[in-house]
Amino acid sequence: MQILDGQLVSKTIKDSLKLDVAALVVEGKRPPHLAAILVGNNGASETYVGAKVKACSEIGFKSTLIRMEDSVTENKLLSVIGDLNTDPDVDGILVQLPLPKHISDEHVIMAIDPSKDVDGFHPVNAGKLVMGSPAFVSATPHGIMLLLEHYKIETKGKQAAVIGRSNIVGRPMSILLSANTNYGNSTVTLCHSHTHNLKEICLRSDIIVAALGRPGFVTGDMVKPGAVIIDVGITRVPDASKKSGFALKGDVDFPAVSPKCSYITPVPGGVGPMTIAALMKNTFTACQNNL
Ligand code: NAD
Repeated sequence: MQILDGQLVSKTIKDSLKLDVAALVVEGKRPPHLAAILVGNNGASETYVGAKVKACSEIGFKSTLIRMEDSVTENKLLSVIGDLNTDPDVDGILVQLPLPKHISDEHVIMAIDPSKDVDGFHPVNAGKLVMGSPAFVSATPHGIMLLLEHYKIETKGKQAAVIGRSNIVGRPMSILLSANTNYGNSTVTLCHSHTHNLKEICLRSDIIVAALGRPGFVTGDMVKPGAVIIDVGITRVPDASKKSGFALKGDVDFPAVSPKCSYITPVPGGVGPMTIAALMKNTFTACQNNL
């Protein structure tokens, strides 16, 4: 079994982007600029946005973090997005989800200019992805594809099970793995909360992507020997032995599954860092399109 080291691959991608930014600056151009909006004080969201801002500074991107109170109105948030859309200095816009209940995710996503939608959530980008046209691809599935590519994992003709059908992870993942591209061309079964015989589907799969948010859901008896396991799940579970009071758990029972598989992503240190790397790549692309 080999670990798919997202931390390491993410660093390689960020190092390469750092050189690309330096080259832009030598040409007299400005570095890419990511604007992130964080509404409220959700602990996990703070961590994710903090990691994105940190990655920007490591690479040499400019970043702006806009914090808003939990009580901010939807109209106010939409107007800030409108300003960022028309600001020629801003290449990428992300609004950290989840948002407070009184704000519609859909209205917010629709408000972002698709050419600055580096999270790839806007229907224009989601639609282009489905059609196989160049698009900003949601950072988590994009990061997983970069990981498969880095380790040269054969996907062509393979059976893949994607567990979870969210618009930001599972569904785009199923589209990417089934696309007629390098590291696509798999036959994908998209599983969800109403899927029957999930265990059988997993057992016949060469690749399993677990993205449902249920710690330890994929157990050893669900995995065929030699399968490739991608664990997207990140759930905070109480852990008194940790300073933070919680541990991060994936959707895969790592101790039981890892001896059976060929490759596996750890949690943390697998898909999480790749999500950041993919977001940085998307932001660089947005900047190149914008300059
Ligand atoms: P979501 O809650 O939007 O979607 C979960 C999906 O899982 C749903 O489609 C649902 O149908 C499916 N599901 C739930 N219970 C199921 C069951 N028993 N059997 C089969 N399917 C089931 O979640 P999401 O936003 O896609 O995130 C999924 C997980 O991935 C979460 O743990 C989240 O924290 C994590 N995540 C990690 C990253 C990262 O960078 N590593 C990024 C995004 C999300």
